[in-house]
Amino acid sequence: MNTPRDELRARLLALGFDDVRFVRLGAVEGRFLRDWLGQGMHGDMQWMERSVEKRLDPQQVLPGAKSAVLLGVNYWPGVAEAATKAEQPVWARYALYSDYHDTLKPALVAAGRVLEDVCGLKGTEYRYYVDTGPVVERGWAARAGLGFIGKNGMLISRRHGNWLFLAAVLTTLDLEPDEPVRAKVGDGEQIGLLCGKCTRCMEACPTGAITQPGVVDARLCISYQTIENRGFIPRELRRKIGTHIYGCDVCLEVCPWNRFAQQGRRVLLEARDGVAALPLRELLELTPERFAAVFKGTAIKRVKLAGVLRNASIVAANAGALDCLESVVRLAAHDLPMVRAHAVWAVFQLTGKVRATELLASAKAAENAAEVLAEYAASENDGR
Ligand code: SF4
Ligand code: SF4
Repeated sequence: MNTPRDELRARLLALGFDDVRFVRLGAVEGRFLRDWLGQGMHGDMQWMERSVEKRLDPQQVLPGAKSAVLLGVNYWPGVAEAATKAEQPVWARYALYSDYHDTLKPALVAAGRVLEDVCGLKGTEYRYYVDTGPVVERGWAARAGLGFIGKNGMLISRRHGNWLFLAAVLTTLDLEPDEPVRAKVGDGEQIGLLCGKCTRCMEACPTGAITQPGVVDARLCISYQTIENRGFIPRELRRKIGTHIYGCDVCLEVCPWNRFAQQGRRVLLEARDGVAALPLRELLELTPERFAAVFKGTAIKRVKLAGVLRNASIVAANAGALDCLESVVRLAAHDLPMVRAHAVWAVFQLTGKVRATELLASAKAAENAAEVLAEYAASENDGR
């Protein structure tokens, strides 16, 4: 006989979610998050500090909350994108869709209606979040058996690999929970539960950002530096960024659990196929109008034009893209010091000191920002 829980799951799956699991909300073990924040590993993401109490206590988010419905949307396209030219910028796979915060929202509104319909809930008795809310979806998702938390700190599903967007609906309903992933060593909240002796993600990380199993130091992480950091990227990390222009999937890509990933239905997602094909030179020459048109509706717009120009300069240098040199030199005279500084670094990396000094002579003569002049000085002194 179908219980309301079965009906709920079936109707939520019918909305296009690829996985639906239930968890009972108890106290959240906050030591890990507090230690991580205490060590400053969140970099400049101050909002994480501000929301920590709410994140750990669902009652502060929804008084009377008893359960959560965890919803997964698989974004694995079925095949890895074909490798292209060495200088082709690499985008985090999730960025090649319209912003999932927006595209999942209508389905979450519909999920709320399903809860009202099947369980008789009122609109005030549930709240939904996609990634942005003060909730700790990943820990709940592990407890709900949606997957386990790997040594790369990501939720890993046996059916969807590392490729899940997560959303959560908190509710005052007392839903019978699903079983967490079990292994001999513990339950679903244990870091690396099904990793065994594997350490591939830790070894593959270009910057050594996974400092311990499950602990990612955001300050070293390419995803953080290319997306969340809106200012200067530390010079010592720039070479290690390689051709990652927005985000990084290295620690996800290498995970052997991906071999079980099924292609996502992607009914709630909208692919933006053109983004991955954008040539580096076009990115370096983006105008505000073109940026707005190309990235409208994507998560990439959050880094703004300046972020893309900064990151593209780093990619040009790391790819040795001499065919883009003229564009990078032009950026050394951009309006924003942050863009100018990274362009200066890139020109020095691409050509060496003597040629860079010639190419940048007029930009340097016009330069008056201390941080950009410091970039010239550092590049002139770094021995290349
Ligand atoms: S996203 Fe990239 S840089 Fe960050 S931890 Fe994973 S492999 Fe390292
Ligand atoms: S790559 Fe290996 S260690 Fe890393 S999350 Fe996957 S299984 Fe675990």
